[in-house]
Amino acid sequence: MSILFAASEIFPYAKTGGLADVGHALPEALRNEGERVYSIMPLYNQIDRDKFNIVYAGLTFDYWLAGVRHQFDVFHKKDSQDELFIYNPILCDRLGLYYDDFGDFGDNALRFGLFSYSILEVMIRMKLDIHAIHVNDWQTALVPMLIKTRYKLDIKTVLTIHNLAYQGVFGKDVMDQLELDWDTCFKFNGLEYYDAVNFLKAGIYFSDKVTTVSSTYAQEIQTASFGNGLDETLRINSYKLKGIVNGISTEVFNPKKDEYIEKNFSFKSYKGKKKNKELLCEELGLVGDNKPLFIFIGRFTSQKGVDLILDAMELFASYEANFVILGSGEDSYNNAFRSLIDRYKNIKIRIGYDEGFGRKLYASADYLLMPSIFEPCGLNQMICMQYGVLPIVAKTGGLKDTVIDFTDINNLEELSLGVGVTFDEHNLFWFNHAIAKALSLYANKDKFEDISKHNMQIDNSWKNSAHEYINLYKK
Ligand code: ADP
Repeated sequence: MSILFAASEIFPYAKTGGLADVGHALPEALRNEGERVYSIMPLYNQIDRDKFNIVYAGLTFDYWLAGVRHQFDVFHKKDSQDELFIYNPILCDRLGLYYDDFGDFGDNALRFGLFSYSILEVMIRMKLDIHAIHVNDWQTALVPMLIKTRYKLDIKTVLTIHNLAYQGVFGKDVMDQLELDWDTCFKFNGLEYYDAVNFLKAGIYFSDKVTTVSSTYAQEIQTASFGNGLDETLRINSYKLKGIVNGISTEVFNPKKDEYIEKNFSFKSYKGKKKNKELLCEELGLVGDNKPLFIFIGRFTSQKGVDLILDAMELFASYEANFVILGSGEDSYNNAFRSLIDRYKNIKIRIGYDEGFGRKLYASADYLLMPSIFEPCGLNQMICMQYGVLPIVAKTGGLKDTVIDFTDINNLEELSLGVGVTFDEHNLFWFNHAIAKALSLYANKDKFEDISKHNMQIDNSWKNSAHEYINLYKK
C-alpha cells in the first residue's frame, strides 16, 4: 500500500508535543512493515535545512484562493525522498508553530487551510499514487472534506485525533477566505459548529475512518465530560471510530544507546541507571541518591494535572525523596513554578523545553508523576518504562490502558503491561496516597528493582499498533 501521512509537526524537525513523536515513529514503523509511506509537513522557518539535509524537490506552484495567489515550494530529505516538506511564507515564516507570546496566531485557519490544499496539490502534481491519506488533528482535518467536496477523488482517508481539546474553531469568514462551499461543507453535520466553523468536526464527519490514540479515550470522548462539545458528533460517527494505542520509537528512546544520557544501560547492566542518578543528583545539588527520585516532564497546562503538582509541593518537600520538575507552558503556571525554584532543598524545577535534560531525567528517575486530568494516550509513561521508571498515573485514557498498579498483579513474568502506581480520583488525597504507596514499594529494594527491570522489557514499540493501522488502511 501507499500511504500519505500528513501532520503539522514531525520529530525531529518540529515538535510541540506527542503528535510530533507519532509523526516520526508511525511512518517509520509502517515502512518497516513494507508499506510505502510519504510524510508531509510544513517547512517552518525555524527548521534547519542544512542540519537535516532538506533540499528543494524541484516543484514550485501557485494556488489561487479567493483571488489571492499563494506560492508553495516543495522540499524533501536528500536521503529519503518520501519525506516531503511544504514551504509557503504565510504558513512557515513564524516564531512559533501555532502561537507566540501574544497567543494563537490570528490567521491559523488560513495557514492550515493552505497547508491542507497544498497536501492535495503536491500529491496530484507529483503524481503520487496514494491509496489512503492519514491526517492528524485539526491542522490537517480539512483534507478529507476537500477530497470529497472539491477534488472529488477516490482516495480513502483516516483522521487521527491526538487530543480532542484542540479543534481548530474559527469564525465563518474563513469559509470565503478558503473558498469553502456553504452547501456541501457547512450544512448538515460537517464544518458547522454553533454558527462557527470547526476543522476537527469536519474531519470526523468527512473521513472514512477516525482513530484516536487509546481504546479508553475512544470511549471517553463519546461522553459529555470528555467530549469537548463533540461527543454527539463522535457518538453519531462511532461506527467508524477506533482506538489504537500509540507506541514509541524504541530507537530514539533507548537507554542502551541514548546519546543524551551520561551512562548507557539496560536491564542487564542496571548499575548504569544508578550511576545516572548519582550524577544527576550531583549536578543538581540533590542530597541522597539512595532516596527515590520522582520526576515530572510535560507541558504546564491543566490537562497534565499541574494544579495537583502545585498543590502537592509542600507534601513533596516533607518526604524523604527528591523531585525534579521539567516543563513549560501557560504563563500562570510558569510563574507559579518560577516562584518556587529556590524554595525547597529536595525539589528542583527547570522551566523550558529541553529534550536532553528530559532524557537524563528518565535515565535517572525511579518514578514519573503523571496526574493528568485526561490523557488521550500519553507518551511519557511509555518512554519512562524504557528507562526502568515506574509511572504514577491517574486512571484515565491511555494511562489506564498502558499502566497497571503494582498491587493488582499476580505474576510479573507473564505480564505484558507496564507496572506503576495508579489512582482513580483526581484529588490531592488520592494523589498523595499513590505517592505514599510508591515510597513504601521503594523501601522493598528487590521488589522495586524487579518491577523496574520488568518495565524496561515491555514492548511499547509501534509494531503492534502499526499492524492495526495497516488493517485499517486495508479496510
Ligand atoms: P502531549 O500532550 O504534550 O503531546 P505526550 O505525553 O503525548 O504529551 O508527549 C509529550 C512528549 O514531549 C514526550 O516525548 C515528553 O518527554 C516530551 N516533553 C514534554 N515537555 C517537555 C519538556 N519541557 N522538555 C523535554 N521534553 C518534554
